Amino acid sequence: AAACAEKLWESPTKLPAIPLVYISGEEMTRYAASLMMKHWIEPHVDTSAWEFFDLSCKARDVSNDKVLHDAVAAGAQLKAIFKEPTITPTAQQMAEFKLTKALPSPNGAMRRGWNGVTISRDTIHIEGIELGFKKPVLFERHAVGGEYGAGWREISKGRLITTFFPDDENAEPLIVDARRLSDSRNVAVVYHNPLDNVETLADHFFRRCLDANVTPYVVTKKTVFKWQEPFWAIHKEVFDAKYRHQFQERGLVPDGQLQHLISDAATMQIIRWTRGNFGMAAHNYDGDMLTDEVAQVHRSPGFITSNLVGKADDGSLIKEFEASHGTVADLWRAHLRGEPTSFNPLGMAEAMMGAISHAAHLRAGAGGELEVKDAYDKFVQSLRKALHNTFRYGQGTWDMAGKDAGLTTEAFIHKVGWRLGR
Ligand code: NAD
Repeated sequence: AAACAEKLWESPTKLPAIPLVYISGEEMTRYAASLMMKHWIEPHVDTSAWEFFDLSCKARDVSNDKVLHDAVAAGAQLKAIFKEPTITPTAQQMAEFKLTKALPSPNGAMRRGWNGVTISRDTIHIEGIELGFKKPVLFERHAVGGEYGAGWREISKGRLITTFFPDDENAEPLIVDARRLSDSRNVAVVYHNPLDNVETLADHFFRRCLDANVTPYVVTKKTVFKWQEPFWAIHKEVFDAKYRHQFQERGLVPDGQLQHLISDAATMQIIRWTRGNFGMAAHNYDGDMLTDEVAQVHRSPGFITSNLVGKADDGSLIKEFEASHGTVADLWRAHLRGEPTSFNPLGMAEAMMGAISHAAHLRAGAGGELEVKDAYDKFVQSLRKALHNTFRYGQGTWDMAGKDAGLTTEAFIHKVGWRLGR
C-alpha cells in the first residue's frame, strides 16, 4: 500500500515549454491520447510551445491537405514529432466521413519531408511481467525504397527494356534490363533502393545495439536478390571501420564478424530466439513483415515502438514517434455504444515520452540547457514508472490483467495520472 500511495513526480512548477509537433488522428486513439494529455502531461508540462496539427480525414479533406503539408513543414523545423494513428480512408470510410476526395497515406509525405532513414521498432518491456521476448529486440526498417515506391503496368507479349539516363549529359544511357515477354498477360514492375542514407542507418543501428547491449544482424535475401548486396556491404564497412572492436570487447560479436541472416531464416529465428537480445536491420518491405512478426511474438502491437528517424541537413536527427497499431476502431465503436472499453495505451505512451525526451535533448544540445533536459528525463522516467507499476500491481488493461481485475480505458489513465502525482 505504501508503494501505491507514493507520488512519483513532484514539482512546484510546470516543466518549461519546449517546442514539439503534435499530430492528432482519429477514433479510439485520439480519444485516449486526449485523456493522456489531460491527466499525465498538462498538469506537469507547459505545452504552450507545442504545435498541434489535426490529421483527421475531415480536417485533411476540408483543408485540401494543407494540414498535412503544414505538419510536415513544422516537423522538419522542430524535429521532434508525436503522431497518433491516422486513417488512410478506404472507399467505405470516404462515404462514412463524407469526404470529397481520396486522401493518400500521410506516411509517404512524412518520410520524404523528414528525410526518413529508418523506422526503428523495439519491443517494450515491463520489469516483472513476462511478454514474448525476455530481453529487448531492436529493429531498423529502411524507411525508403523498394516495393512501396514501385512503378508498374500490366502489359502483353513483347520486349521490355529498362533504360537509365544519367543526369550527366556526357554519359551514355545504360540498359538496366532487357527481356522478352512470352505470356499474353504480364505485370512489369520497376523499383529502386536508394543507398545514400544506408550508412546513416547503419550508424544508427550499431549505436543502438551497443547502447542496448544486443547482437546485430543484417537481414537480406542477397543470395538470390543480388541487388541487395550493397545494403549488406555498407553495413559491413561501417561495422568494420567503427564498431567491430566495441562489439567484440563486449562479447556481443565474439569473432568480430558482423553476421548476415537470410530473410527467410530470420522469420524462423524471430520465433525461436525468445530470449531476445538481438537487433536486425532490413530493407523496407522485409522490415515491415518482420516487425509485425516481432510484435506478434511479443504479445501484441501494443508492446512495440515505431519511430521514424530522419536526418536534417545540419546532421541533427528528425524523429517522429508513434504507436505501431491503428486507431483501434472496434473499441471506438464500443465506446460510442456506451460500452466499457480497455485500450492499452503503452505504445502511444512510449511514443509521447519519446517525442518529449527528444525535444528536450535537442533543446539542451542547441542552448546548453542541461537542467531542462535533466528535468524532462526525470519526468519521463517517473511517468514510465507510474505506467509500469500500474501494470505490475495487477491494475493493467484487460489484455494484461484480465477482464475481472483489469481497468477500463478511463480508469487506467486516471490511475496512472494519480500514481504520477496529481
Ligand atoms: P488496429 O491496430 O487499430 O486494431 C487491430 C486490433 O487490435 C483491434 O481488434 C484492436 O482493438 C486491437 N488493438 C490494437 N491496439 C490495441 C491497444 N493498444 N489496446 C487494445 N487493443 C488494441 O488496426 P485496424 O483495426 O486494422 O485499423 C483501424 C484503423 O487504423 C484503420 O482505419 C487503419 O487505416 C488505421 N491504421 C493506422 C495506422 C497508423 O496511422 N500508423 C496503422 C495501422 C492502421
